[in-house]
This record gives sequence, C-alpha cells and structure tokens, in this order.
Amino acid sequence: MLIIGGGINGVGTFRDLALQGVDVALVERGDYCQGASGASSHMIHGGIRYLENGEFRLVQESVVERNRLLKIAPHYVKPLQTTIPIFSTFSGMLSAPTRFLTHKQGKPKERGAFLIKLGLSMYDFFSRDGGSVPRHQFRGRAKALAELPSLHPGIKYAATYFDASVHNPERLTLDVLQDGEKAGIGSGLPGGSARASNYVSLVSMDSSAAGSVVLRDELTGEEFSFQADVIVNTTGAWVDLTNEAMGAASSFMGGTKGSHIVLDHPELLAACGGREIFFEHTDGRIVLIYPMGDRVLVGTTDVEADMAQDAVCTEAEIDYFFDLVGYVFPSIMVDRSQIVYSFAGVRPLPRHDDTQPGFVSRDYRIERSERPASGAAAALGGKAAVVLSLIGGKWTTFRALAEHLSNDVLRELGMERKISTAKLAIGGGSGFPNSEDGIQDWVKKHMAPGLDADRVSGLLTRYGTRAEDVIAYLHAGEDRKLRSTNELSVRELEFMAANEQIGHLVDVLIRRTSLAFRGLVTGELLNEVAEILSGQLAWDSAKRDAEIQHAQNVLLRFHGVTVHSLVA
Ligand SMILES: Cc1cc2nc3c(=O)[nH]c(=O)nc-3n(C[C@H](O)[C@H](O)[C@H](O)COP(=O)(O)OP(=O)(O)OC[C@H]3O[C@@H](n4cnc5c(N)ncnc54)[C@H](O)[C@@H]3O)c2cc1C
Repeated sequence: MLIIGGGINGVGTFRDLALQGVDVALVERGDYCQGASGASSHMIHGGIRYLENGEFRLVQESVVERNRLLKIAPHYVKPLQTTIPIFSTFSGMLSAPTRFLTHKQGKPKERGAFLIKLGLSMYDFFSRDGGSVPRHQFRGRAKALAELPSLHPGIKYAATYFDASVHNPERLTLDVLQDGEKAGIGSGLPGGSARASNYVSLVSMDSSAAGSVVLRDELTGEEFSFQADVIVNTTGAWVDLTNEAMGAASSFMGGTKGSHIVLDHPELLAACGGREIFFEHTDGRIVLIYPMGDRVLVGTTDVEADMAQDAVCTEAEIDYFFDLVGYVFPSIMVDRSQIVYSFAGVRPLPRHDDTQPGFVSRDYRIERSERPASGAAAALGGKAAVVLSLIGGKWTTFRALAEHLSNDVLRELGMERKISTAKLAIGGGSGFPNSEDGIQDWVKKHMAPGLDADRVSGLLTRYGTRAEDVIAYLHAGEDRKLRSTNELSVRELEFMAANEQIGHLVDVLIRRTSLAFRGLVTGELLNEVAEILSGQLAWDSAKRDAEIQHAQNVLLRFHGVTVHSLVA
C-alpha cells in the first residue's frame, strides 16, 4: 500500500502499518513535517475550547492521547503549565451553551470566569485517568498578579491547568518515521517492507495498470509508476488537489491559515514565568504566548486559506500579535526587531461553508472511494484501487488516528492487527530518563573527551536516547565543532546526511535542528553546513551555491528571516 503525504498523520499511519507487517511505502513531496505539522502551536492538548463546540469525543480522545504521549515520547512532549487571565465573571454564560446545543455560530461573546471554571472542571473530568496531570486551580486577582506581576492589572482572576507541548515536532515526526522503517526490516523484501522517501510527489494516476500512480522524484525530475492495492491520502490541506491528480475530484477540505512569530525577548520570556498564557483576545479568538526554550512563541490566527497562495505570516498578522501581547502584558513593549522567525500553515479542516473558522470541527474522518481501472488496466480486467482520504486530524491525536486509519487499511487487505502502539515508546523516547536527576546522570555517563556536559545535554535534547547512536558515530572518527555554532559538529552533520534523508540544506536548519526557529542562522553557518554536506551528498560547487541560495530564499519567503551569505 501507498501513503501520500509525510506530515505527522501520514508518518504515524506508516509506523502503525509497518508494525502490523504490511508492505507499505510513503512519499512526501517536500521534507517530512514541512506542511501543517511543522506550523502548529506546538500544543499537545485536550483542546479545552472544543468543549464549547460540543466536541466531547475529540476532547476525550485528545486528553487520553496527551497523557500517552507524555509517557511514550517524553523526550519531546513535556507538561505545559497554562494560565488563562480572565477579565470578567459571568460573560459568555448564555452564548456558549446556546452554541453547542444549537450549533449556531454567532459572534463569540467574551468567556467569563464562570464559564471557564465550568470548562476546566469538565476538562479535569476528561483528564481524570491516573492523575497524569494535576487538576486546575483558580486564583483571585491579587494572587494571580503576585505569581505573574506583568499581567494586565485589570484581570479579575487567573485559572491555571496543565496540558503539554511538543518541543521538536519535526524530530518527533522523524522518530515516528524511523520506527516504521525499522519495523519493516527483516521482512525478506529488499529494503524492508516499510520504505519512505521525502522529495517524491504523487503527480497523477497511471492508466496502464490498476492502482498505479505516477510518482516524481523532486530532486532529479525522474518519474516512475508505483502500484498499490490501497492508497492513503494524508496530504492534509492538499487532499482535494491530490484526489484531483488521481482523477477523482473531491471537495472535502476547507483549510484555514494560522501564523506564529518567535520572539527573542527576555522580558516577555520572564513575564510568562515558564507558563503558556492562553487567553481570549478582544475579537473572541483564543490566542497564546509561551516560552519555547529561550524564545517566546506568539500565535495564532485563523483565516480562510487560499491554496493557490503560499501560507506566510503577513504584516497584518504581526500587528495582531503585537496587539495581543499588549492586551495581557501592557507594560511590555514588542517590536519587529525582536522577531527571529515566523511561520504559517494551513489546518486540514473539513469544508465548512459559513461556519466561522474558529468554530469548525477539529475532529477527523476518513473517506473511502474507489478509482476504477481505466485504459489498458481496465482492458486487462484490473480491479479498482481503494483510496482512503483523511480529513482533519490534529497533532495531539496522531497516534489514535493512525490506528483508526490503519484498521481501515487492514480491513481492505483482509489482515489482522498484531500490535497496539498505545504504550510503545517512540524513537529516542525509549528509556528516556524520567527526572531531572536522571537526565543529569545520563549526561554524566556519556561525557567523554570532546563531549562536555553541554554538548551531551544538547544531543539528548535533540535526539532523546537515540543520541547514543549519534555519540557512537561521533566516537568512530575524528570530529570537531563547527566554527559557526557550538551546537553542531562535522561528524554529527555527516550522521544526519547518512541517516536522516536530507534533501536540501534548509532541511538541516529548519527540521533536523532548531537553529532557524531560534534565529541562529548566519551567513557563516550557511556556508559551513553547505560545505560539509557537499562532501557527504556529492554536491559540486554549483550545487552547493544553489543550496545556499535556496535556503536563503526559503528563510526569507516563508520565515521572514534575512541571512546574508558570505558566498561572493
Ligand atoms: C497554525 C496551526 C496551529 C496548530 N496548532 C496545533 C496545536 O497546537 N496542537 C495540535 O494538536 N494541532 C495543531 N494544529 C493542527 C496540526 O498541526 C495538523 O492538523 C496536523 O499537523 C496535520 O498533519 P497532516 O499530516 O494531516 O498534514 P500535513 O502536516 O499538512 O502533511 C501533509 C503533507 O502532504 C504533502 N503533500 C501534499 N501534496 C502531496 C503530493 N502530491 N505528493 C506527496 N506529498 C504531498 C505536503 O507536502 C505535506 O507535508 C495546528 C495547525 C496549524 C496550521
């Protein structure tokens, strides 16, 4: 079978099917996690606000999955203390129940303390399994301001509860993918029974054989046919376009665009006190400000997406973000010079006609269709190919969704499920220390000449316990740190080039490391990384310069980052 689309949902389904022993391939037209999966708010959450839309099934599944991910992917998914500043007591009391009982989408009313308390109590109820996260707490104005002194002095209360955040979604996606590839090894098929390739896109149906599609290698331009009994379309917001390419138009999707900015702003970072500040802005949208390492993430918007246009963060959205920071932290000034990175993506939401974007269901569904054999394939009596299209699917629920999608595929293939992924550690989450002391011990144990505590700790953060493989690779030859950053060495880049499907220089900056996200890409870094990769990926000097140019273009166009390279 063939999965099209290497976001978290396609990759999660790939891993699940590989573990069931299915002969599965996945193609992604760009890099893994470059679509919506690389543009999220990084929250692994039950979605408290979906309660007011009456989406109880989704909230229930999401909190269960959040609690599971904290256990099976502890290297990247961490608890997130979240505070909601509240400006009124009873507001929204009438509009919210009306909304979820009648499904009418009027202009949202401010959500007051009473309503938020009700929502959080329900949320606690949904989260009650095994006490993975503590229950919520309500604070009056004085206590709230004592805890977070920069909050707007006009607040009446603050509610605090726990959710989770994913710190490195791109690497978590890669871990899930590599688990799938590993599961396919030993199947007796050349290359294993689970194979995945980035920079390969689906272009059309191939009428010469039933279930055949035409794939294109985007790095070389080569096109070839691929035959599958079942095709899974997990191309997110592009699902309809992919179906159209396969000769069967659909109109399932109605994606909305959301953007974020990343700020290097120590004062704002300190003001958050290590918490996510999650609140309702003056237009009724739920927005967030929260620390991600030494940076602050601010988001997000929710506007109808035009799939003919690239999703980028606009100047108007930046103004909106500054406005929302000023709304909760009025004494803190923010300006454009503090933005180190921006990103935008399209949520793969269902078509929603006149429902306001913020109120469109976040739940997912799977649509089955058949592509009858045509042309030569029909003449030869070829059977129809089954296509399963995924509509929706949040980051938080990817494991459960993958299980559903995979069950549907197994039914089509007449196979049985062999193993559940519910408790199976993901990649470098396996054996990850479960306390700060445990982390320190792990670091001490792996220190060696050339690998000081900072470097080992950086590797553990980047790879989880898979860092052991990286460290073994570093020890197997002469190594040195890059001149342009302390966070990478020559051999680590070689390890990535050998094991992590790097198609372009920019993949290293945005998705194999968080250097771009944190605003740490310099011209010197671009040149040095390009130089080292050239040796590994057989790039000649023209290709190396083209890669530097490509990285600069992507960083400027999609992330608002200008990097002056040192190439003449
Ligand atoms: C602004 C924003 C904030 C969000 N915040 C959160 C959050 O905090 N928590 C949460 O749980 N969820 C959040 N989400 C939702 C979540 O990120 C997405 O629902 C999820 O990542 C979708 O994953 P996917 O794999 O279905 O789609 P995608 O990640 O979009 O993957 C689809 C892939 O298909 C590929 N593709 C397209 N056409 C082809 C083709 N012809 N051939 C091959 N490949 C193709 C694309 O390149 C893309 O990589 C957010 C989304 C956005 C946009």
